[in-house]
Amino acid sequence: MADGVQARLVLVTGANRGIGFEIARGLAAQGLGVLGGVRSSEKAVRAAKEFKAAGANVTPVVLDVANTTAFAAKIGEIERLYGPIDILVNNAAILIDAPGGFEASIFEMTDEIFRRTWETNVLAPAALIRALVPGMIARKFGRVVNMSSRAGQLEGMSAGFPAYRMSKAALNALTRIVAAEAAAGSGADVKINACSPGWVRTDMGGASAPRSPARGAETAIWLALSGPDGPNGGFFEDKKALAW
Ligand code: NAP
Repeated sequence: MADGVQARLVLVTGANRGIGFEIARGLAAQGLGVLGGVRSSEKAVRAAKEFKAAGANVTPVVLDVANTTAFAAKIGEIERLYGPIDILVNNAAILIDAPGGFEASIFEMTDEIFRRTWETNVLAPAALIRALVPGMIARKFGRVVNMSSRAGQLEGMSAGFPAYRMSKAALNALTRIVAAEAAAGSGADVKINACSPGWVRTDMGGASAPRSPARGAETAIWLALSGPDGPNGGFFEDKKALAW
C-alpha cells in the first residue's frame, strides 16, 4: 500500500503483549495510526509506557473482547474519538484447554471452557467485523486480518486442545464467509484474510517456541498492508497460502 498509508487507522486487539504488540509496533513503524486494544484501563496505562519505551507510536484503547455486548457503544466511542477504522487485526485470543493443556481430551472439556474460548476467539472477531466492515465497504477500503493458527486447519486436524482448535477452525470459516460477502457486488477494496504466525515465543506459545513475536507478526502486517491486488479470503503463513 503506497499512497494514503499515513491516513489509515488500524485497530489491533490484544496489543499489550506477545504477537499483538509486535503487529501494532510494526504497523506504526509504517506510518499508520495504530490503536492497540487492551483489556482494561490499568493495562492501557502500562501498554502506553511499553509502546513509548519501544519507540512505537501506538495509542492504547480499552477493548475487552470477552464483552461483546458492549462493542457497539465502545466502537462508536473509539471511532468518534480517533476517526474511522480502516484496518482491523483480530489478534486477541485465549488458550484455556488446561489442565490437560496440549494433551487435553475432548472428554475432559467443560461447557465453560468451550463457552469462554468461543466468546473471545470467535464471537469477538465476528462482532468487530460486524461493527467495522460495513463502514469499510461504504468508504470503499478496508482490511481485516484474523489471527488464526495451524491448530485450526481441518486438513490434518487431530487430537489436542479441542476448544482452541474448534475456535480457530470457526475463525477460518468466518474469514471465508465475510470475504465472500464483502467482495460480492460492493466494488469496494475490502479484503479479509486469516493467517498463522507459526509457533511463537509468547505466554501462549511458551519458551520453547522457535519464533520471536516480531517474526510471528510479519504475515499479519503484510496482509494489513496489502494493496488492491492483494489476496481476499485466504489463509497464510510466512506470506504463503496454507490449506484450510
Ligand atoms: P498471548 O501472548 O497469550 O497474548 C494474547 C493477547 O490477547 C494478550 O494481549 C491478551 O491480553 C489478549 N487478550 C486475551 N483475552 C482478551 C480480552 N478478553 N480482551 C482483550 N485482550 C485480550 O498470545 P500470542 O501468542 O501473542 O497470540 C496472539 C495470537 O496468535 C492469538 O490469536 C493466538 O491464538 C495466535 N497464535 C499464537 C501462536 C503462538 O505460538 N504463540 C500460534 C498460533 C496462533 P491480556 O494481557 O489482558 O491477557
